[in-house]
Amino acid sequence: MTGFSTRAVHAGAQPDPTTGARVQPIYQTTSYVFRDADHAANLFALQEFGDIYSRIGNPTVTALEARIADLEGGTMGLATASGHAAQILALHLLMEPGTNLVAARQLYGGSINQFNHAIRKFGWQVRWADIDDPQSFADAVDENTRLIFTESLANPGGLVTDMAAVAKVAQEAGVPYIVDNTMASPALCRPLEHGAHIVVESLTKFVGGHGNSVGGVLVDGGRFDWMAHKDKFPTLTTPQAYYNDLVFADTFGAMPLGPDGANVDIAFAIAAKAFSLRDIGPALSPFNAFLLLTGCETLPLRMDKHCENALGVARWLSGHEKVSWVRYAGLEGDPHHARAQTYMPKGAGAVFTFGLKGGHEAGVKLVAGTKLFSHLANIGDTRSLIIHPASTTHSQLTEDQKIAAGAAPETVRLSIGIEDIDDIIADLDQALAAL
Ligand SMILES: *Cc1c(COP(=O)(O)O)cnc(C)c1O
Repeated sequence: MTGFSTRAVHAGAQPDPTTGARVQPIYQTTSYVFRDADHAANLFALQEFGDIYSRIGNPTVTALEARIADLEGGTMGLATASGHAAQILALHLLMEPGTNLVAARQLYGGSINQFNHAIRKFGWQVRWADIDDPQSFADAVDENTRLIFTESLANPGGLVTDMAAVAKVAQEAGVPYIVDNTMASPALCRPLEHGAHIVVESLTKFVGGHGNSVGGVLVDGGRFDWMAHKDKFPTLTTPQAYYNDLVFADTFGAMPLGPDGANVDIAFAIAAKAFSLRDIGPALSPFNAFLLLTGCETLPLRMDKHCENALGVARWLSGHEKVSWVRYAGLEGDPHHARAQTYMPKGAGAVFTFGLKGGHEAGVKLVAGTKLFSHLANIGDTRSLIIHPASTTHSQLTEDQKIAAGAAPETVRLSIGIEDIDDIIADLDQALAAL
């Protein structure tokens, strides 16, 4: 089973062992009956894998985790209630009070908020860098840095990160490189193939794909040597009293779970589940896992159509008299076109921005004038979506932060759906004409 489309349909799921049900059933249960006292004790001590309680494991959720880990090329996945929850769990496992992460300035507005504000409560700090200047990541790293964070394809601008360059900085700094792969999805880009150590992703967007469920995932690449940086990551490298002094990086650093029983490192994913998810609690519901698994099955097909439509719309907008600029890495001549060819040769995604000559006011008016497009704060739906970031998703940022994040006043963001391109263009045409 090697082809991506085949794995998108099959990986991680088998016919149900008890009923033969072909589609992964929704195991709508909170808990699981133990065979006997030894079984219960083994499960609690992590001596044996199995479900105890659906906050930390559920068969429907496990099938989704296995599928995404397979599609991303990782060793193990951990599903969470949202993309933001996946980010917090990753940070929780790797950071201590007084430590920092170095993150790209070009991020989803919610992630900028999470890093600027929410994480301070834990005593963690963010230091910002720029994806167009790899040296800025190296300059921001200090002895308290515990991870580097970027998006593969950055929201909202449709910008492409030079992941190999950032990975090199992380390697030299001795910290893991975490990539948010939400906007590209594993159908277009697999960050673990470009030097990332861990992938986080909002499944709410393209993977689920139909705008019907919130969910997230964290994928362990199994390639970071935690023990070589023992002092930095004590949760992974020192005995944990609550699990009989188990050391995650030792016990789960080489498990025979790879292809043909090869040893793989799942320490990060297991610790994120058995410690961070267990104690913080943002578990994914089995029903959402079911919907997200269904989304996976058509992911490659949808991404092809999303990209084809997005390129067509971007080209059309580029020639429009009321449009001052279009930023889509799929366009020849875009500053990130060459990077897109390297990191996502099948297409530069479906989300991009463009500027209106009429500025802020034209942006607000255009959004109101569209009919086929839905005005809402999501991306990656089958439907075409439109938003004016400066007055919505990025409104809580300062003017400078808005511009740095690709959300200047004249900017409109589109997430192009899988409708007929003629209808998508006709809708933009009439809304632009009315300006
Ligand atoms: C939406 C989004 C998130 C957050 O995901 P939720 O599922 O909404 O919590 C993180 N990163 C990117 C790039 C996103 O688009």
